Amino acid sequence: MKRSLLFLLILTLTACGRPSAGPVDNNTYRETNYAKGGPRFKALLLYDDTAEEAHVQFDHQAIAFFRKQTVGEGFIVDSTQNLGAFTEEQLEEYSVIIALNASPSRDARPLFERYMENGGGWIGFHAAAYNDIRTEWPWFVKFLGGGVFKCNNWPPQPALLELDRRDHPVTRNLPDSFVAPATEFYQWTPEPRENPDIEVLVSLSPRNYPIGLKDIVYGGDFPVVWTNRNYRMIYINMGHGDEQFSDATEQLLFINALQWIVSLDPAGNPFDK
Ligand code: ZN
Repeated sequence: MKRSLLFLLILTLTACGRPSAGPVDNNTYRETNYAKGGPRFKALLLYDDTAEEAHVQFDHQAIAFFRKQTVGEGFIVDSTQNLGAFTEEQLEEYSVIIALNASPSRDARPLFERYMENGGGWIGFHAAAYNDIRTEWPWFVKFLGGGVFKCNNWPPQPALLELDRRDHPVTRNLPDSFVAPATEFYQWTPEPRENPDIEVLVSLSPRNYPIGLKDIVYGGDFPVVWTNRNYRMIYINMGHGDEQFSDATEQLLFINALQWIVSLDPAGNPFDK
């Protein structure tokens, strides 16, 4: 009896002595304070370890990649698999949600909608934008520009990409065309470019057609990076498998996207100082 009481006491003390882990799963919580040379902003990585293996591979590499960008504490990266664990106020501390092959669970959809409608930032990779008839989330489809998943190439393979815009902050220092490492590309219907609110920045070159050995895409408009002017968002179709971070051009694109989305923060551009 004595021993179990002591154990209980130790457990209680340990629990009380530690700060709560909170909704983030990397168990860190720090304030941004760039005026004093501290972190300029906070980014939240949303991922899903129950996704298919190739998506989880990308997610874990992306978490390591974005954590590496924080060296010197330029910014803070937190990660979570459960957006629903956040209050609205907690979420608003983040300048951007980086969705790695993950979208908010059904119960967290209203929270995410309010976050985005109030000026929140979103960078979506690959399956983060996947939606079909079963998704039943009209707001999200509108947010993406109206497109639902149409088809994909299979197996994942490299492809020639071409810039649609050369003067945009996300593409300004990229080559006019480059070969992206092997990935699964999604084609959408209706084509996002048809929506006047959508600005396409990078597309799959028609020179790739037909693309795929099992599942073949024979043609059609094929944007792979775009933004919806009504939101602080950018979608990047790449993000399948373990080759995405093997290419410097693509890494540059990812960093540019992060810098651009964060620079548009309604609270002010944290890179200005
Ligand atoms: Zn995929």
